[in-house]
Amino acid sequence: MPSEFYQFADLDKLPFPDRDVVYKVDALLRDMPSKQFLSGRGCPYDCAYCFNHTFKELFKGCGQTVRKKNIGYLLEEIRTVKNKYPLKNVVFNDDTFIIDKKWFLDFSRRFPKEFNLSYTCNIRANLVDEEIAKGLSESNCIGVNWSIESGNEFLRNAVLKRSMSSEQALEAARLLTKYKIPYRIGNIIGLPGEKPDQMLETLELNIKAKPSLGLANIFVPFPGLALTKYAIEHGYYNPEKNARLPKDFFSESVMDITPEENKQVQKIMCLFPIFVNMPFLFYKRIIRKIMFSCPQFLLRFLYEIFYADRMMKLYAVRVSLVQKYRIALRYVANL
Ligand code: SF4
Repeated sequence: MPSEFYQFADLDKLPFPDRDVVYKVDALLRDMPSKQFLSGRGCPYDCAYCFNHTFKELFKGCGQTVRKKNIGYLLEEIRTVKNKYPLKNVVFNDDTFIIDKKWFLDFSRRFPKEFNLSYTCNIRANLVDEEIAKGLSESNCIGVNWSIESGNEFLRNAVLKRSMSSEQALEAARLLTKYKIPYRIGNIIGLPGEKPDQMLETLELNIKAKPSLGLANIFVPFPGLALTKYAIEHGYYNPEKNARLPKDFFSESVMDITPEENKQVQKIMCLFPIFVNMPFLFYKRIIRKIMFSCPQFLLRFLYEIFYADRMMKLYAVRVSLVQKYRIALRYVANL
């Protein structure tokens, strides 16, 4: 996009998002005690499986890609929503909420003074230090999401370009545990050229990090990703043979692997969060074998129940039985 035609907007000059458009047709979302917000835009990292590196290339010269809203503006936006709709927990959906340490520490002092609300956000392990963890804890943060992606250093840093060591991941886990902040860890399996042992390496690093929920999504090679290019160039993926991409990250791998290998990736995906939370099931060889021999539909069913339960707890979704039933219905309809 030529920069003479387009410059990024000043976030503080934009009107607040028009939530009425959604809430007047979606009572379930309107009545949820958790609502989503963005405190800024953009991410300075270049992970090979994420859209950000391509986005930065496309919009080169259009201004600063990483931008944060002024804290006063953000707090006013939250207040406007709170005055109009049920709101108990703010979900900050920014790529990396703590990207600007000074901004975050300022936010962590002001937010609890102005609101009796909790919040959750996405963070990056290598940015977590004592001050950040303390700031999260003192500002009523009740849960964070972050990612390891792969337990294998080569895959994580040379292939995924994640720029993060295993030590940094474990140190972040230690600090979050020290400050009693529950965390969910994201991972990717079915990576180009990844062997089952490397997927289990990811599982074992997650077990060491002890998250409230550890998830492993299956890699989908969207066009434009550096990782898709890598997979094609190294002969791990043939877009002509496998042109149809799966509709989600939970169904199957479209890498050039055998049907048996594909089944194994799907089973690891389903069992991953269960093993992370109950490592004895993984380390008892006989139990592990029995669990891997269960039919895929049963493992997927177990996964969905486990996932939904942990997510509701992590996001503090405290709702009535009727609301729970409505959420469950919509969840099943979207499977
Ligand atoms: S840190 Fe997260 S948001 Fe940023 S490039 Fe990596 S995956 Fe994308």
